[in-house]
Amino acid sequence: MKVLIIGGGPAGSTAARLLAKEGFDTTLIQDKIWDKPCGGGVKTKIFEQFQIPKSLIKHTLSKVEIIYKNKIIPIPLKGKNLSIVFRYEFDQTLRDLAQKDGAKLYYGKFGGFEQEKAVVKIKNEKILFEYDILIAADGVNSSVRKALNLPPVPKTITHYSKTDKYKTEVCEFFFEQKYGGEYYGWAFPHGDLTHIGSVDAKSFKNLCEYLKVKEKPKGYFIPTWRENIIIQKNNIYFVGDAAGQVMPLSFEGIYYAIKSAEILANSIISQKDYKKEWEKRFLKQFKFMKRLENLMKNALFRDIMVKAHNLKFVRNFSVNLWLGKV
Ligand SMILES: Cc1cc2nc3c(=O)[nH]c(=O)nc-3n(C[C@H](O)[C@H](O)[C@H](O)COP(=O)(O)OP(=O)(O)OC[C@H]3O[C@@H](n4cnc5c(N)ncnc54)[C@H](O)[C@@H]3O)c2cc1C
Repeated sequence: MKVLIIGGGPAGSTAARLLAKEGFDTTLIQDKIWDKPCGGGVKTKIFEQFQIPKSLIKHTLSKVEIIYKNKIIPIPLKGKNLSIVFRYEFDQTLRDLAQKDGAKLYYGKFGGFEQEKAVVKIKNEKILFEYDILIAADGVNSSVRKALNLPPVPKTITHYSKTDKYKTEVCEFFFEQKYGGEYYGWAFPHGDLTHIGSVDAKSFKNLCEYLKVKEKPKGYFIPTWRENIIIQKNNIYFVGDAAGQVMPLSFEGIYYAIKSAEILANSIISQKDYKKEWEKRFLKQFKFMKRLENLMKNALFRDIMVKAHNLKFVRNFSVNLWLGKV
């Protein structure tokens, strides 16, 4: 069976690797080598679970910090459970692993459908790829969704930058609305630099002032998950950002892209219903976090929730929730 995968980020490369290993005739199409805009924060357990080389880890963290109204609330993570990677290197390695396990990898750009085949431009040449199954793992602006006239993934803009003018050893989360808008601002260690960001341009500017840095932001979208995003149309499946599978409130996308790709690959291998399998595994957690995300838009609720993290049992609950133990 021929599987064609558009997009070689964490979702597409993982699906390619798992399906190629099972003997599917798998082709992975990635448009370019690039550094996906991303803080690079990922659960450490993913490295063992998916045999990803630990040499890709740039920082391992055993705590994060909430910074709120000039106070720091440390959140211990019950071990070195959070790692930081450089996406440029991480994505490239995942594609190499997929190739090693038997997937064919082409650098080219998907551009639509013709005669029930996928059109891919490789070095100015238009090539038609046949497939029995197509997996769209082409990110938040999915061109496969566009080509099929499906509604786009709901999303919000983020403003971010890398700076050498502010240093942090841990991931910092800024929950005051002026620094994080409706969500949060962040500062993550990133090698010798720090990855800083927020949602709208104004909160990014406020965050920069607070951190005493002057940075011109770049902008990129991130999915804002909601229930009932279309993740399958006939023999075409969507996964990762292309399916909106980013955890509400935490905005963690790498882990869920990889895990959702695993669910999709297993569903294809064992001929199960992908949507049902995904919902069985993640729907409850995503819905709970979405409810919290919506409540956090209320200033009073946000104030109570953030301050409640001074209490050990609340911190424990949040960390267990993040670790998937609730
Ligand atoms: C500013 C910012 C910070 C973030 N920080 C974090 C973080 O710290 N931790 C975390 O877990 N998540 C974070 N995220 C979210 C995370 O980056 C995504 O959820 C994750 O990358 C999703 O992986 P994916 O494989 O689904 O999509 P992507 O990583 O977007 O991969 C899609 C791939 O498809 C390729 N592609 C697109 N169109 C085509 C085409 N037409 N033809 C061929 N290939 C194509 C792209 O080049 C890309 O490589 C952040 C996002 C943003 C915007």
